[in-house]
Amino acid sequence: MRDLDRFPVIDRTEHDERRPDFLSTSFDDPRLEALKISTNGTHGASLRVAWDLPSFFDLNHASYLRLSTVLPTLFPSVVAGEPTVFVISDSPRDVRASIVMPSLSGTVLRKLVSGRDGATDAALVTHLRRSRVALLHGKPSVLVNLAGLDQSHGGAGRIAPANIVCSGENLYPDDRARIEAWFGCPVLNAYVASETGMIGLECEQRAGLHVVTDHLTVEVAPDDEPPRATGTGQVLVTNALNWRHVFVRYRVGDRATVTSDRCDCGHEGQTVVALPGRERAAYRSGAGAVAADDIGTVIAAVEPPVRQYQVTQADDHRIAIRWVPEPGGAPELTAGALATALHRRFPAATFDLCPVGAAAINSPGGKLRRFL
Ligand SMILES: [Zn+2]
Repeated sequence: MRDLDRFPVIDRTEHDERRPDFLSTSFDDPRLEALKISTNGTHGASLRVAWDLPSFFDLNHASYLRLSTVLPTLFPSVVAGEPTVFVISDSPRDVRASIVMPSLSGTVLRKLVSGRDGATDAALVTHLRRSRVALLHGKPSVLVNLAGLDQSHGGAGRIAPANIVCSGENLYPDDRARIEAWFGCPVLNAYVASETGMIGLECEQRAGLHVVTDHLTVEVAPDDEPPRATGTGQVLVTNALNWRHVFVRYRVGDRATVTSDRCDCGHEGQTVVALPGRERAAYRSGAGAVAADDIGTVIAAVEPPVRQYQVTQADDHRIAIRWVPEPGGAPELTAGALATALHRRFPAATFDLCPVGAAAINSPGGKLRRFL
């Protein structure tokens, strides 16, 4: 860690502006042009991350092998030569793809895209219902929508995954509960960034995300203080996996709390215990501060349920909540219940409530944020 102190903290914008400084000339080979992944551009400009061949293999294959260490039913569920691992994306840039996974007994990983149109979504549900799903992997908002599609599809059966992994967005407790209830399967949370691959992984104790320290170093940078191994602040990652594109003390753009402890699962070392990511913690209202978590708790209990929502500070006195009704639900009943519940819990605060379509708070392929 002491060696790292010689390096400055660098954020995505600066990294991109000085791109040649971080690209290895040893891997300056045009055949490697295809090995690039763009970061999600929801929060600022997208960064194209270049990979060398072994690290790209590691990124795609060893990550799934790593999942098998905390998902004991993964290996027994996969079948060689058959699609059993399904990655669902809602990004318009993504294409359907099938990849043989030597790390998972030669099973086939199938990447599928949801949200294109009704017919494609219906075909997706039919395909997944007929498939043996050893692992279902996607952003929480994508899997919540998939559960909704499965629920409204009709016909016999439902999608029955043996394992579910979420990454790519904050996993909110109510979304987790919804995904687990519909699919009848526990959800494992993973912290993954396009720049660095897997950063942390939950264990069955659900005591936070254990940092994957064998190929990266995680630090936190509190405001105006030097980076350290534990504490609360901006997450910095130094990656020893990618030899083509260097990330040293790179600020991934998330805030988190990192502890160092021994977990009952056997993990000893860093664990990300709070990952609010890029979310706001509190809002101002005439009567003082209102905690984002408290607003979330109230909304999660509303019946008929709210499918998704986003909270913003409208002005110094008002908090705006744009919310998405449950498809096929009763939006006017939800609107009334939501207003009543918020007033009861925060009598002195003023809320502007506005029902919207899902795309109004999370564009396809984007990262959902509830508390802006
Ligand atoms: Zn653990």
